This record gives sequence, C-alpha cells and structure tokens, in this order.
Amino acid sequence: MRYALALTIIAVLGILGQIVVQVNIQQLSRDTHVIDVAALQRTLSERLSKAALAILMAPDSATQSTYVDELLSAVPQWEQSHLALQQGDATLGLPGHNSPAVVRLFAQIAPNFNVMQDAATKLVVAYETQPPVVLPTTPTLASRIAPDVHQILVAEPGFVNGMDAIVAQYQREADSRVNQLQVTEWTLLAIELVVILLLVLLVFRPATRYVGQSITDLVLAREREHELAALKDQFIVDANHELRTPIMALYNNLEILAALNERAQPEQRTRILERALSSGNAVLRLLNNVLDTSALEGKAPRLELRGVALDPLIRAVLETFDPSEIGDPEMPSGQFAARTVTLQVPAGTFVRADEARLRQILINLLANALKYSAPGSPIDISAGAPAPPRRGRGAHAGAAASAEQVQISVRDRGLGIPQRDVAKLFERFVRLERDIAGPARGTGVGLYMCRMLVEAMGGRIWVESSGVPGEGSTFSFVLPASPPEAVLIPVTPTVADASSTLTS
Ligand code: ADP
Repeated sequence: MRYALALTIIAVLGILGQIVVQVNIQQLSRDTHVIDVAALQRTLSERLSKAALAILMAPDSATQSTYVDELLSAVPQWEQSHLALQQGDATLGLPGHNSPAVVRLFAQIAPNFNVMQDAATKLVVAYETQPPVVLPTTPTLASRIAPDVHQILVAEPGFVNGMDAIVAQYQREADSRVNQLQVTEWTLLAIELVVILLLVLLVFRPATRYVGQSITDLVLAREREHELAALKDQFIVDANHELRTPIMALYNNLEILAALNERAQPEQRTRILERALSSGNAVLRLLNNVLDTSALEGKAPRLELRGVALDPLIRAVLETFDPSEIGDPEMPSGQFAARTVTLQVPAGTFVRADEARLRQILINLLANALKYSAPGSPIDISAGAPAPPRRGRGAHAGAAASAEQVQISVRDRGLGIPQRDVAKLFERFVRLERDIAGPARGTGVGLYMCRMLVEAMGGRIWVESSGVPGEGSTFSFVLPASPPEAVLIPVTPTVADASSTLTS
C-alpha cells in the first residue's frame, strides 16, 4: 500500500509539474508578445512625431504628402495598439489583463496620448482642408500646423518615457512569473525527492530487510532440516542399541534364573530379579520417551493436573533405578558400586502437576545424572523456593523467580555441559558430540520430553554447568506450587527412612 501510494504521489506530482510548465510556457509566450507590442508603441510614437515635424519642415507639397501618408499609416496602428494593450485584442493576440501597476502607468501617460492624438488629428485635418489655390492672404499650412506639431513634440517624450516604464514593468512581471515557475518546479521536485526518500526508508529498506531475513530463515530452516535428518539417522542407530542392551540384559538374567531354578539362593534370586526389573524399566523408559516424542510432535501433551507431594514421589522414583548404580539404604554397605544421593526436599512440598509426567521428568533427569557422571560420584536432589536466576549460565536462566513456584534441581558431578551446547540441549534428538562418540548410550529425546512436559505444566527447565568435567551440571525446573489441602497423595512412600539422605 505504501509503495502504491508513493508511486501515485510521484506520478501526480510529475503530471502536475508538466501542467504547470505548459501553462507557464503559454503565459511566457503571451508576455513576450505583449512586451514586443509595448516596445513597438515607442517606435510608433517616434514615427508619428518625426512625420509631424517632417510635414512642417517639408520644402514642397510632394514631400509634405509623403510624410502625411507616413503619419496616416503610423497613427491608426499606434492608436489600436494603445487601446489593445489596455483592453485586449484577439486579432493582435493581446489579452489585455494588466496588473494594477501597469494600469496606473497607462493612466499616467493618458494625457500625453490624448494630446498627441488630438494634435495629429488636427494636423491631418489641416492638411486635408487646404484650399486648392493658395491666396496670399491665406495662412500657410506650416503656420497652421506649427502649434499641433509643437504639442506633439512636447507630449512625445513623456509618452515615450511612460511606454518605457510600461515595457520595464511588463518585463519585471514576466521575470517574476519565470521565478515563480522555477520555485514551483523546485518545490515539486523537492516533494518528489522526499516521497522517494520515504519510499526508500519505509518501503524498500524494510522490504529488503524482510527479504533478507526470509532468505536467512529459509537457509537456517534448510540447515536445521539437514541437521534433523542427520540427528534422526543417529537416533535410529542409538535407539537400536539402547533397546538391544537392556532387552539382552533382561533376557540373560531370566535365562540365569531359569538355569539356576531351585538351586538359586533367595538373595541371589532377588538380585537377579532386580536386575531383570531394572533392565525392563530401562526399556520402558526409552519406549515411553520415544513414543511420546513421536506422538507429541510439538503438540501439548494431555495432562491431569493435581497437587503432587514431591518427597514421596522422588523416593519412589529413586527406587526404580538399579540399586547397584544408585545405592540402596537397605542393602549392606559396600555390596554395590553405589553412590551418595542427597535428598533435600522439605516434607509437605507440593506441586501442581501430572504425576505420571512428573515421574517421567524426574526419571529422565536422574537417569542422565547417573549416566553422565562417574560411578560413585554424588548426586544431589533438592526442591524449594526458586533461587534467584544466575545470569547467562543456563538455557533459561534470567527468568524471574516466583514464590508461587517450586524449583526442583538434580545436580551431578559428571562431565558437565559446554556453554556452547547449552542452548540446543533441550531440542529433539540432540546429543553432545562427546557422547555420540562416547560410551554412554542415549537417544537425545529425554531432555526434549522434559522440556515439553515441564512447559505444558506451566513451568520452565534449564541447566547450569561450568562445562568443567568433575564439576558436573545442575538441571533445574520450576513448577507451580500447590496448596496442601488440594492434594491427593499420589504415591505411598516405600523408603522407610524419613531422613533426607540416602546413602549406600
Ligand atoms: P540421551 O538419551 O542422549 O541421554 P537426553 O535428551 O536425555 O538424551 O540428553 C541429551 C544429551 O545431553 C545427552 O546425550 C548428553 O550428551 C547431554 N546430557 C544430558 N544430561 C547430562 C548430564 N547430566 N551431564 C552431562 N551431559 C548430559
């Protein structure tokens, strides 16, 4: 619309400019003609006065007759132009529209004009009324016309000067019209330039930027598409591997149990079954994530939100992990390559969440903490009021903390995450270069699912890490807090120990 408007304005100004120029050119040619006729008046009045003087001075009647003819030719022309200049005459091409200044100047020379006109008329009459035979008593023509010639000669300089002033005035008025035309043309040109400038600033520049941005977006989208295709390929390889390993472990453990049959000690049987269950859990975890990821595809998951007590839920989640990895308070110390898991969750902390989905988030974060840190290194789980955000450290750091939210954090002392990878960590199929090549198995959908679920529950998730191996990383998310009275306790705590630390 702006573009069309600007083009219309430029076109209208162009047409307007042409009309103004054409009208003024016609006016200027009229001005030139008027000036020519006015200048001719001067010559005609001079011809008139010279002819009158020549008649007076003529040595013989033949010469007199020649000059009378000259007078008779000059006077009508002179009279007609004089009248036409003031009142207009189509045959002479004179408009007769004079400015007040010109009208005043014509009024000033009117007496001179009248005197010259009367004297010339009288002179012609005197010439034409001469008796055919000149008697000695008859006054001579020269004596009769001498006063008229005198009057003409006296009035003529005033008339000529007046006409000069009129010509000069006509010239000035024509010049000022030329100046005005120039000013109008410059003004139109300046407006056109302003419109073109506005066109550049308001249409071309944003359009160029928009086109540039669109091209950049397209290029980025293509790159992202290629990246995603590569990630998907990698995912298929990883998912295959991820599934095969726990299924094989499950199968092997059941096979051992079948082989031992009656010979298996109760303790041995429990251990084998626990391993089999843990492998089954791993398969389920993976399948849940993969199925959810493809089922959701950017859509918000369906949730059943209610008050969930955090402490029992986290303890229940911990129990789903392999005790040989995480440690088990009920097993004798030193029996497993276990690690210290510190739990700092004030009793009576509730969040508004979908319990099953919250469990899924916690399982993913804990599984990662275990997977990407050395065996035996501690893991801290905490919950409470959101900490004031630390600038620039995490993907979502910088958002304001709120008292109506609960922050849950899982901290490990593992490999950590380099700053440059933090931003893309919560995208689909993303695994760190280090881990694609490394021993830790994974599919790159866990954190993506976590983000989708946390955001669907009205929270946000982020990671803080120095990127230094051994200093580890802290994955945190916030969820809306829930008042205890609205609570349906979701799980029965199975960890009897009410203390906040689980130690192997
Ligand atoms: P995966 O199945 O590969 O673990 P996730 O989406 O859970 O998929 O994690 C994505 C990537 O983020 C992982 O492959 C790993 O490179 C990195 N990552 C996740 N958690 C941690 C952690 N606690 N410490 C270090 N790196 C981690």
